[in-house]
Amino acid sequence: MRTGYISEIVGQTPLIKIKSLSEMTGCEIFGKAELLNPGGSVKDRAALGIINEAEEQGLLKIGDTIVEGTAGNTGIGLATIAAQRGYRCLIVMPNNQAQEKYDALNALGVDLLTVPPCPFSNENHFYHTAKRLATEGNDRFWANQFENTANFRIHYKTTGPELWEQAEGKIDAFISAVGTGGTIAGVSRFLKEKNSLIKVRMVDPFGSGLYSYIKTGQIAATGSSITEGIGIMRLTANFKEAIVDEAVQVSDQDMLSMLYHLAEKDGLLVGTSAALNVFASYQYAIEHKNSGKRILTILCDSGLRYQSKIFNPEFLKEKGLTRKPLT
Ligand code: PMP
Repeated sequence: MRTGYISEIVGQTPLIKIKSLSEMTGCEIFGKAELLNPGGSVKDRAALGIINEAEEQGLLKIGDTIVEGTAGNTGIGLATIAAQRGYRCLIVMPNNQAQEKYDALNALGVDLLTVPPCPFSNENHFYHTAKRLATEGNDRFWANQFENTANFRIHYKTTGPELWEQAEGKIDAFISAVGTGGTIAGVSRFLKEKNSLIKVRMVDPFGSGLYSYIKTGQIAATGSSITEGIGIMRLTANFKEAIVDEAVQVSDQDMLSMLYHLAEKDGLLVGTSAALNVFASYQYAIEHKNSGKRILTILCDSGLRYQSKIFNPEFLKEKGLTRKPLT
């Protein structure tokens, strides 16, 4: 059992074999349980990597304020570590995210600013707002998870090696969605260095431009998605480090069917991006039915972080989504 401060127990998460889907496909599907990090998501790793590198470079001193624009999880990750190390946090978020994330950030004592969602080109986008606020005072540090490559480096140093070790070097495919690109970049780089035959498949929700980018070289999107923390319309410094072989797009309905399937059949309550990741892994397994291939993905956060949305029949109805079995 591990003992230590919050920042010392980030990572080293279990790799869960998803029994129902492995049996259904004759492959082995595993999810890395990032929802078990202290802040409840994969973004605890990025937060720790960014803070550690900033400290090493002398960019942070006790009492300073860490400023970040985030869909929520990076803010929660930063706030848990900041509370322990004596920093303050100023978090800027779009105002259409799950209430649970705002509640968690308020409980963690951060200064929270919400802004209306808007295209990246608009100067009021949460990213630009955070960047601007970070320049107002020399006791502020902008975490900048999208462009700060400390993000992908921590996944290269921790998530990749953990997966390699946990899977005992037998890995056929790695499948991941993209928010900043930190996870897919760090893991794909590490795994490809170990074995260049490992396939890396990116999964995108509708409304994100990366699927089109991988397919055609042009960033373009159609539709929208209720998933949170993933999907972007630009290439980030972190995503540019990723080695991606192929891309798929998964609908919210397939994501939701998987989310409920995992809850009911496997006792796994995961969030929307994790359900998207697992659906794409299941699709990959169906394409390689009964091959015994080992497919790894990321369980980014918990379904409980979105209960006001995904366990709320009114919300689902409004979005035209229903709880129906996997197809
Ligand atoms: N899932 C969730 C729930 C997230 O919050 C994020 C990060 N915003 C991701 C997936 C994507 O991770 P990354 O930023 O490493 O691409």
